[in-house]
Amino acid sequence: MGKIQELSERLANQIAAGEVVERPASVVKELVENAIDAKATQIDILIEEAGLKKIQIVDNGEGISQEDVENAFKRHATSKIHNRDDLFRIRTLGFRGEALPSIASVSELSLETATADEAQGSYVFLKGGQIEEQRATSLRVGTKITVENLFFNTPARLKYVKTLQTELSNIGDIVNRMALSHPQIAFRLVHDGHKMLTTSGSGELKQTLAGIYGVATAKKMLKVEAKDLDFTLTGYVSLPEVTRASRNYLSVIINGRYIKNYALNKAIVQGYQSKLMVGRYPLAVLEITMDPLLVDVNVHPTKQEVRLSKEKELVELIQRAIAESLRQINLIPDVGENPSFKRKVEKIQTEQLDLPLEEQPKKKSDLNYDPKTGIFYVEPKPAVFEESVSTKERSIEEKYSIPKTEDKSLVEETSDPLLEQEVETEIEDELASGDHPEFDLSTPSGEKVIEQAITKLEQEKPQERFPMLEYFGQMHGTYLFAQSKEGLYIIDQHAAQERIKYEYFREKIGDVSDDLQELLVPFVLDYPNNDAIKLKEQTDLLQEAGIYLEEFGPNSFIVRAHPTWYPAGQEESIIREMIDMLLLTGSVSVKKFREATAIMMSCKRSIKANHHLNEAQARVLLSDLAQCENPFNCPHGRPVLIHFSNSDMEHMFKRIQDPH
Ligand code: ADP
Ligand code: MG
Repeated sequence: MGKIQELSERLANQIAAGEVVERPASVVKELVENAIDAKATQIDILIEEAGLKKIQIVDNGEGISQEDVENAFKRHATSKIHNRDDLFRIRTLGFRGEALPSIASVSELSLETATADEAQGSYVFLKGGQIEEQRATSLRVGTKITVENLFFNTPARLKYVKTLQTELSNIGDIVNRMALSHPQIAFRLVHDGHKMLTTSGSGELKQTLAGIYGVATAKKMLKVEAKDLDFTLTGYVSLPEVTRASRNYLSVIINGRYIKNYALNKAIVQGYQSKLMVGRYPLAVLEITMDPLLVDVNVHPTKQEVRLSKEKELVELIQRAIAESLRQINLIPDVGENPSFKRKVEKIQTEQLDLPLEEQPKKKSDLNYDPKTGIFYVEPKPAVFEESVSTKERSIEEKYSIPKTEDKSLVEETSDPLLEQEVETEIEDELASGDHPEFDLSTPSGEKVIEQAITKLEQEKPQERFPMLEYFGQMHGTYLFAQSKEGLYIIDQHAAQERIKYEYFREKIGDVSDDLQELLVPFVLDYPNNDAIKLKEQTDLLQEAGIYLEEFGPNSFIVRAHPTWYPAGQEESIIREMIDMLLLTGSVSVKKFREATAIMMSCKRSIKANHHLNEAQARVLLSDLAQCENPFNCPHGRPVLIHFSNSDMEHMFKRIQDPH
């Protein structure tokens, strides 16, 4: 007998299960997809112990006829496609006929189902893929599938399952996306008796959005619509001020299927042009319909990756559609109330054309770089220590605030907050595009930036020597000039302020005393269920960083107090940003959490390039810098100042060779 044998169907199913049924969330996904394909209008998902004990899906779809029940559990048996041509015209979520046999092969599964045409329904029970009981039963039209003891016979798979909270959070996430993809279906997700999600099934996407992200967030989302010959696009995107620290809140749905596609996610972000803060992402749900011929969903067993024949065209359509909706909203609030608005915008736009071009960065080869201090030199030479200047106690926000009257720069002329924001974002765009290339989080590797910055900071040793700087001028609202008896210093004011603020926030966030300020009006924070689960697990860590969340409904928290150091009016945004950071970095140590938050806050709240400081502000900035633990680098590791020593200058002016 030859060595090669055909695997038993049961073994083949278990092998397939390795791909299709990775974790409890994938079981939920496959079973809900089947219910959607069966045209259900109500889908209930009941979970116990994050799905490891029990997953039950009840739908009111068309059911399975008695003669089909056994076939449903056969490998590659499907009612959804019949021939090769169908494969290129897939309008259902399933088509591979793999899910039921795979899930049944690694669990104890019971199925009850009934169709409208038959007097009786069917019941079948399988263990490890083997039918153990089968009989007729009575049930209303629809299907109820119960999966128990998942992975009981594949212990290796069980090992890969993470904590119950992580698994549950994954289930929440997948059900949220299914609900967003099908606003016409009423979903109910219940875990251990606690409601995690309910949607009305009214068909209104905005209602589903409110159910998932909270009413307040949904109210700040704009409708997007576009159409061309190949694609129809509808959906909602958040206003530029409503952002998150990760791309997890972008959902792209193609022909009713939630898919993962980097290019399309990037297109959404690019649609915001310069309106997003560096490292921040919007919330968005885009539903795209197209001829199934244009999309190949048969790329991976989980069917979340797709190949698009006209991806470039779709990317452009998404960008244009989003840019268009945002452009309209930006003009609406002020044109009516403030007739001078348009004039101001035009003025700013023309003035910005006149702005001096950013200095080209100096070629590094012209300078020497001292990695110890992070300073660039014409010749290697350490900066020298001189006494540092003490600063008067003032609030950090007011110290560097933009002068209200004396300065005639762009920002001061416009008291309109919307305009200020526009100017800010222009500058931030510039930062994202050139000045701070490593802080562009719109690349997949970009999220590692924070990690890397933290690692750098961990290696950082307190610096001892910093020159006493005497300020004497600035250039382009970007660089400050100072001298000491050791020569000339050019300071990047943004980098300097990032460093000062980073150390300020790090200290403040780290200093958790009982010194709390009660809020006059407590505020409520809504999160999608998967995030809420993570936050509930991390309340200790949050408290160590001064955030006290009280549960307030299934996916909401109330905040009643905050550490006294929070600047007035910014309490909510600081808390939101810190929580975002926690969700982005996952369960890290409190030290890392504090550092990541401090980096993010320092970057966000720093003066950017092209902001003119008055002399007093410039001097305060320099003296604060002198007090930093490491005044030489910004938190991302870029140099804060460069030094030309007296002898560098003498060499450059050929004074040394040719003394007069
Ligand atoms: P696929 O979805 O790729 O066809 P599955 O293994 O997921 O493969 O399901 C096999 C078949 O069982 C489906 O083609 C469908 O006919 C039937 N089926 C599964 N779940 C349901 C359900 N909830 N309601 C009606 N029919 C279902
Ligand atoms: Mg299926």
